[in-house]
Amino acid sequence: MNWINKLINKSQEKSTNTQAKAKDIPDNLWLKCPNCLTLLFKKDLEKNNQVCTNCDYHFFLPVEKRLESLFDEGKYIKIDLPKGLEDPLKFKDKEKYIDKIKVYRQKTGYNDAFIAGYGKINGNFVVVGVMNFAFIGGSMGSAVGEGFLFAVEFAINKAAPFVVVSSSGGARMQEGMVSLMQMAKTTVAVEMLAEKKLPYIVVLTNPTTGGVTASFAMLGDIHIAESGATIGFAGARVIEQTIRKKLPDGFQTAEYLLEHGMVDLVVKRSELKATLGNVIDILVNKVKVA
Ligand SMILES: [Zn+2]
Repeated sequence: MNWINKLINKSQEKSTNTQAKAKDIPDNLWLKCPNCLTLLFKKDLEKNNQVCTNCDYHFFLPVEKRLESLFDEGKYIKIDLPKGLEDPLKFKDKEKYIDKIKVYRQKTGYNDAFIAGYGKINGNFVVVGVMNFAFIGGSMGSAVGEGFLFAVEFAINKAAPFVVVSSSGGARMQEGMVSLMQMAKTTVAVEMLAEKKLPYIVVLTNPTTGGVTASFAMLGDIHIAESGATIGFAGARVIEQTIRKKLPDGFQTAEYLLEHGMVDLVVKRSELKATLGNVIDILVNKVKVA
C-alpha cells in the first residue's frame, strides 16, 4: 500500500467513525427557536413551560401540560366530551378525511382538537377548555363545537366560570358547512353563560385565527393573550394582497391587539395562572382591585 492509499484509508476510517458518533446522538434532544435561532435543549424548554430561555418566544404547550399549568397543584378532573359527527360529508381530497382523523387520533391520543377539565384555580372551581393545535391545527369541526357546548353546560351545572384557551387555524375545511355552523353553536353557548351571569374568559394563544377568532374567541368578558401570540381572522399576507397596502409592524400580534383595544391583558406564560386566578377572584368573589 503506497502512502496515498494509506492516507485515503485513514480518512475514510475517520469519516465512518464520525458518522457512527453522529448516529449515537439522538437528533430529538435539541430544538431551534424560530425567533432567536438559539439551539435549545428540549429538557430545558420543557422545564420552562415551552418558553424560549433566551428570547421568551412561546412555543405551543401540549394540552395536558396546559391544563396542569393552570389548575391548583396541577390537579383536575377530565370532562368526558361528546364525539361529534364523524366525517359528516364523507370528504375526500388526496386522502379520505376519516383516515386523516384516525392518524391524528393515534398521533395525539385524543379524539379531536378540544379537551376540557374541571378543577380549582386560586381555590375557585372553574371549567377550562383547551384547543389542541397538534390535532389538525386545532381546527374547529363538529367535535370541537359539541365539546365546547358540553363543557359550557358542565360549567353552568356547576355554576362555575368558563375559561377557554384558544389555539386554532380556524374552520375544519373537510367538514365544510358543518364546520361553519360551529361558529353559531359556540356563540349560543357563550350567550348561555351570560344568561347565567357566569364569567367567560378567553386566553388567546399562538395562533388564534379564522372561524375561531370570528366566534367564541372574541366573545369573552375578559380577553387575556399570551405574549407574542398571532391573533387574527385572515392571514396578514392575504390582507396585504387584498388591500394592496403594507401592514403596520407587529400587525395581528397580541401586543398590537392590546394597543387597539381587542384584548384586555397580555401576559407571559409564567404569569398566566396568577393573572387568571386574580381575574376569576375579582369576578366571582368580587375581590376589590388594590
Ligand atoms: Zn428564542
